[in-house]
Amino acid sequence: MSILKTVNLKKYYGEGENLVKAIDNTNIDIKEGEFVAIIGKSGSGKSTLLHMIGGLDRSTSGKVFIDGKDIFSLKDEKLAIFRRRKIGFIFQYYNLIPSLNVWENIVLPLGLDGKQVDKNFVNDIVSSLGLESKKEHLPNTLSGGQQQRVAIARALVSRPSMILADEPTGNLDSKTSDEVMTLLKTMIKKYNQTLVMITHDEAIAQMADRVIYIEDGKVIRGGVTND
Ligand code: ADP
Ligand code: MG
Repeated sequence: MSILKTVNLKKYYGEGENLVKAIDNTNIDIKEGEFVAIIGKSGSGKSTLLHMIGGLDRSTSGKVFIDGKDIFSLKDEKLAIFRRRKIGFIFQYYNLIPSLNVWENIVLPLGLDGKQVDKNFVNDIVSSLGLESKKEHLPNTLSGGQQQRVAIARALVSRPSMILADEPTGNLDSKTSDEVMTLLKTMIKKYNQTLVMITHDEAIAQMADRVIYIEDGKVIRGGVTND
């Protein structure tokens, strides 16, 4: 079953001489439970693609289907709700709220959605990520790797259909990157999650089930399974 599909997706910026085809006619198809890495050089369009498949930005033309839903058919408010329920985001700079402790950061998406906190489930995630002793700590007392583990927990807590990660190890040293990636991979397999991860690091990309190569806004390899 396809959890994510893009159809002739385009995102153009500017016009005339300044026209930038950031994403140019992209077709990708990702199955439930797949771990897919998107790799490409800086400026190749990776973040633009991720923002569209996550419903953070709209396309110039072309469609994105998540769980079969044409997400751009939704008005902004409905799209925001859809996004909160269906997608977990992990960013390079963690994006934790500095005034909230680790536990509060992790359960924040549930509160925004008016959902009950399933303490057993959250504690299971917290202990799997080795954060038990950090629950009451503020983000600025944690290392980069620990902060990214909190962000992973926050992405998993609402049991989203899909997790989108933009350079999740881009701010970490190579040893910490390996640790965080190993944990992230273990977690998504444990909870049967789909993960789409952007990276420019070939070694990190090779941890994925499949690699999509992107160049100048175009998929050059790996867009669909068995490509
Ligand atoms: P990557 O994440 O692979 O480094 P991006 O998706 O950020 O690449 O950018 C792809 C291209 O689109 C680049 O040429 C970039 O300069 C351009 N771009 C991205 N966002 C904007 C924007 N808001 N306005 C104009 N150009 C943009
Ligand atoms: Mg980027």
